[in-house]
Amino acid sequence: MNEKVNIDKDFENNIRPVEFEQFSGQEDVVKNLKIFVKAAKLRNEALDHVLLHGPPGLGKTTLANIIANELGVSIKTTSGPVLEKPGDLAGLLTNLEPFDILFIDEIHRLSPIVEEYLYSAMEDYKIDIIIDKGPSARSIQIELNPFTLIGATTRSGLLTSPLRARFGIKFLLEYYNIDILKNIIKRSANILNIEIADNAAQEIALRSRGTPRIANALLRRVRDFAQVLGNGYIDIEIAKEALNALKIDSRGLDEMDNKILLTIIEKFHGGPVGLNTIATAVGEDAGTIEEVYEPFLIKEGFIKRTPRGREVTDLAYKHLNKVKFPEQGKL
Ligand code: ADP
Repeated sequence: MNEKVNIDKDFENNIRPVEFEQFSGQEDVVKNLKIFVKAAKLRNEALDHVLLHGPPGLGKTTLANIIANELGVSIKTTSGPVLEKPGDLAGLLTNLEPFDILFIDEIHRLSPIVEEYLYSAMEDYKIDIIIDKGPSARSIQIELNPFTLIGATTRSGLLTSPLRARFGIKFLLEYYNIDILKNIIKRSANILNIEIADNAAQEIALRSRGTPRIANALLRRVRDFAQVLGNGYIDIEIAKEALNALKIDSRGLDEMDNKILLTIIEKFHGGPVGLNTIATAVGEDAGTIEEVYEPFLIKEGFIKRTPRGREVTDLAYKHLNKVKFPEQGKL
């Protein structure tokens, strides 16, 4: 299991863009970031703190690394749940060189005390640390080198307003369109020496849920099929066969997407139904449904969010070949 995770990480790192020029899509975000990076360099200052928000796999970690690379500074990476106490954060902050980047993934999962500790670090580049124990314990203030915090979150709604307010630069990453995903797939194929037909790259792009991480993962799975069933070349037939075998349908919905839609239709008459009820019925964590599955299903028009819960749309009925309740009774 661990080995698999490592191989996956190596694979991701191999194809991860390292410069703005290699990063496709998110044009407005990139255009602005380029200016802010250039300005920070010109003024010889730390870049303002950056908050990147959007569903998993859209390039938040990649952008953080690109920013560090373009600024010519080091990046230290951690994540909200890993920072259990202020001391964990202090250790990282005091080790930053001037203008370095601290990247905190899942920043919405910081504990309140760690978060509060971050405020003065972000605002004044200062932190208080407690030295000694017992009666002689006292707090001293330490000056930090100017640094940039880059926070990534899939749930910006869960960020407290004081934390959000301390980010001078905030960007929402959007799902990618097919043409850009196709370019990303071709670029990855090129780096990995995979030969792929243009229409096969297009087919994978169509079924990647607008997400580069999924596009790259599918490319790798399709390559397995091409090597075992053919001569390694990915043509449209192999691509379709592999994607069907992976149970990814023509709209890019995977098994869990379909299960969620089917459950709402069959068990809850199409909704509205609460998120926790859906989660229990499909056997998936409510947070994962909200962060990973639902945004794409909403964007593609399969689900609507209403004040009383989630409702599937006519498109979902059509996609799954289902008849809408109560018409069902008339058949
Ligand atoms: P996030 O941090 O948002 O979950 P990552 O930055 O880890 O996503 O990206 C996931 C994978 O997708 C990485 O392997 C990265 O190389 C690839 N990727 C993401 N965005 C792009 C992009 N715009 N162009 C090329 N590859 C991308």
